Amino acid sequence: MTPFQTFTARLTRSLVLSQVTRHLEFELQGVSRFGFVAGQWLSLKTSRPDGEEITRAYSIASPPGDDNRFALCLNRVQDGFMSNFLCDMKEGEEIACQGPFGDFILRPPLRDTIFIATGTGIAPFRSMLHWLLSDRARHQSKHLWLLFGNRTERDIYYHDEFLRLAAGHANFHYSPTLSRGTPDWQGPRGYVQEYVSSIVQGRRDMQAYICGLDKMIKANRELLKELGWDRKSILFEKYD
Ligand SMILES: Cc1cc2nc3c(=O)[nH]c(=O)nc-3n(C[C@H](O)[C@H](O)[C@H](O)COP(=O)(O)OP(=O)(O)OC[C@H]3O[C@@H](n4cnc5c(N)ncnc54)[C@H](O)[C@@H]3O)c2cc1C
Repeated sequence: MTPFQTFTARLTRSLVLSQVTRHLEFELQGVSRFGFVAGQWLSLKTSRPDGEEITRAYSIASPPGDDNRFALCLNRVQDGFMSNFLCDMKEGEEIACQGPFGDFILRPPLRDTIFIATGTGIAPFRSMLHWLLSDRARHQSKHLWLLFGNRTERDIYYHDEFLRLAAGHANFHYSPTLSRGTPDWQGPRGYVQEYVSSIVQGRRDMQAYICGLDKMIKANRELLKELGWDRKSILFEKYD
């Protein structure tokens, strides 16, 4: 497959993750293997009823494999066109895509790493973590922390999946935090940036990947810089 060619993706599965969020699985048509690196994104293209062409970026939420499939994790954005168009797609329908794009990818050699996401910012980390943890040689002796912020229990996408990964890998530490958890919530509360220092514990030799909306990314980058981190150790992908 030539990079950046436009191709057609057929929706094979659409799963509800929360009231406004979906996990969508696609299969590329006429392609036997889709080559990409965990953390990259695709540009999806369609037209509005008035004919205006719309393209939007979506991180690939599944790990690279030997097939022609990929998944997305996306939110309906109020008054947005593409996010609602994708969430309303029916299985079997098709959409044009281009890619993969982006350099929000794991930087070798792997260091102890903190992944910080809110909401659908989890998408590239689902791809990276499944890829890393599926092969011992890729993550051996390195500690990986996933700090995943959401509002309520119902918004923790892929929660069971990350719990299973953590149960199966002593070096993967999964920390979902809730800003509006119910009284029953036993885990951390508040915003992700409130937990970064306790994970980092004064170290500056780690790598941080941050993904989500601008405000959260700024808060975490500023915090890590205040902790003396080199800017090259902080990679981020901004959705808005
Ligand atoms: C590299 C990259 C990867 C991305 N990956 C994902 C992903 O995996 N999942 C995902 O859900 N989104 C992702 N996005 C955001 C996505 O590209 C769209 O911006 C989003 O789906 C809104 O598109 P829309 O056409 O529905 O709304 P638009 O018509 O573009 O926007 C409508 C309004 O919503 C605001 N807005 C735009 N984006 C957001 C947002 N993300 N949250 C809240 N308000 C917003 C706009 O400022 C505007 O006022 C990514 C963005 C980038 C740049």
